[in-house]
Amino acid sequence: MMIVMKPTATPDEIQAVIARIESVGAKAHPSIGEEVTVIGAVGDLEHVSNLSLEGAPGVDKLVPILKPYKLASHALRGGSHSVLEIGGRRIGGEHFALIAGPCTVESRDQVLSAADTVAAAGAAMFRGGAYKPRTSPYAFQGLGQEGLRLLAEVKERTGLPIVTELMDTRDIEAVAEVADVVQIGARNMQNYSLLSEVGRSGLPVLIKRGLSSTLEELLMAAEYVLKEGNENVMLCERGIRTFETAYRFTLDLTAIPVLKELTHLPVIVDPSHAAGRRALVTPLSLAAAAAGADGIIVEVHPDPDEAICDGPQQLRADEFADYVAQVERAAAVAGKVFGSAAHAS
Ligand code: PEP
Ligand code: MN
Repeated sequence: MMIVMKPTATPDEIQAVIARIESVGAKAHPSIGEEVTVIGAVGDLEHVSNLSLEGAPGVDKLVPILKPYKLASHALRGGSHSVLEIGGRRIGGEHFALIAGPCTVESRDQVLSAADTVAAAGAAMFRGGAYKPRTSPYAFQGLGQEGLRLLAEVKERTGLPIVTELMDTRDIEAVAEVADVVQIGARNMQNYSLLSEVGRSGLPVLIKRGLSSTLEELLMAAEYVLKEGNENVMLCERGIRTFETAYRFTLDLTAIPVLKELTHLPVIVDPSHAAGRRALVTPLSLAAAAAGADGIIVEVHPDPDEAICDGPQQLRADEFADYVAQVERAAAVAGKVFGSAAHAS
């Protein structure tokens, strides 16, 4: 249920509505806009309906949210899109953010070199995995704690906010020490205890769409985080499984405008894991940016031929500045402002 307040509603009237929602054990999620305040009531709808809030002071109308996801729904923000602020970089609305870095943290030299490339080219944030979800249990699983320590060094050196994956709730404190954004990988999109824990942490979260998940399932994953009172959620399309085998995954570009209709949350795209090979990364990135994505998360490596994982898809460091310039132009086509470290206030 969504309670739309009148433009003239006073803070006391808003508080009174919140108190009444909470008095029946439901949760109130106020969204204070410039013009109107909208309060999402989540919980036992029968109890909320019995409150007869229609006539309450300051209330304009009650609108049922028919989608199974409530807090993620576009309606909750009265049709506007959320803008997240992460370490001075904005993402969402008109703000486009490029997140770049290697697939995984391999060594001090590798990660610092990648960081210098990413910072010099003006990307907004740095990515790199210390805990890696690998299909094979025999493959490199990431440097773990040592990887997190190296990411802290990247942050110290470049000032770039860090995006890194969390796979296990037991590592959340260690990851939270360095991560500005916690990545939930595609394979963990439906790990509900992990989502709830990240929700409770309050840390910004990037949720990747599962390999075979629908957009509704992705939005329900976001709902697990939002339900804990954590509003800093962004969604990531990274390619899905289809019958096509000519490339790694099928990048679902249609997901961008459709998610924009369904949710207020920022939508970013990972062209690297969809493509599986370098030559496809630039065209997919340009298409995603021009289609209105709020950002891109892309892999770049100082020496992809020697990379421990995902070498064939990682951009080469010496091509990266040119790539960034192209993405910036494509983002402008969609009316987006390309936010970079240099542009950050
Ligand atoms: C990654 O970003 O390194 C990764 C493993 O991505 P995904 O979860 O989308 O496969
Ligand atoms: Mn990877």
